[in-house]
Amino acid sequence: MPTILVTNDDGVHSPGLLALKQGVAALGTVMVLAPERNWSASSHAKTMHKPLRLQTVTLADGSEAHASSGSPTDCVALAAAGVLGEVPDLVVSGINAGYNLGIDVTYSGTVACAMEATIKGMAGIAVSTVWPGQVEVDMQALYRRAAEIVCELGEQVLLRGLPPQTLLNVNVPGVEPSQLRGLHITRIGSRQYPNDELIRRKDPYGRPYYWLGGGRPVDVHDDHTDVGAVANGFVSITPITLDMTNYAFLADLERWDLQLEERPAAEGPRAVGRE
Ligand code: MN
Repeated sequence: MPTILVTNDDGVHSPGLLALKQGVAALGTVMVLAPERNWSASSHAKTMHKPLRLQTVTLADGSEAHASSGSPTDCVALAAAGVLGEVPDLVVSGINAGYNLGIDVTYSGTVACAMEATIKGMAGIAVSTVWPGQVEVDMQALYRRAAEIVCELGEQVLLRGLPPQTLLNVNVPGVEPSQLRGLHITRIGSRQYPNDELIRRKDPYGRPYYWLGGGRPVDVHDDHTDVGAVANGFVSITPITLDMTNYAFLADLERWDLQLEERPAAEGPRAVGRE
């Protein structure tokens, strides 16, 4: 029976995590290890200079889960290293409060958990939906439907596997489940944050501080993109690769006038590896 790790970046007590945990129960043995606090927009943060603690917590349905003091991807790395006994076959991350569309995937701790899974040789699926309160919708019903979709997808992933360096990013539109229009396989689309506000204030001691953010994203609703699919009411599934090479630009870059004298390879140890 496969082992499934449920994690997230919103913190172990997020209702989206509980719904996901309940929704994937049919896939196998489900374990939960998630951060003890909200780490949204922490991307692929890794704790290197302090130890990690684990505690057992009780979720809202009375079930036991594990919480770590580390980042979302620390949780995945801990599970991959066997901290829970079984090493998971599949990692599902979410259900995130807020879509992870377009450029969001570079900020997202939710998506980074699926990336970390991929790096560690496990299958990874990230799933996100609308912010609670962002739209008038029955969030519990939406979470249940999103978790069902991940369960169906997870079954296929366990059966077929994923190509190397590949994870899946799922976004479920914030509509009543009966209003979902279907499912699109997508590429990453265009979502930008051009209107992030810079707030300048003074602290009680007269020193300036700054607060960045709050700007609404500007989306381009192209067909076949994650951004477009969700805007049009379709569940979006995007295959993402960890190979971020821009292959189309490789040859052009070769032709740049970048001068560095070439010399024969030196004997002895090569200048790679961690110091
Ligand atoms: Mn989050």
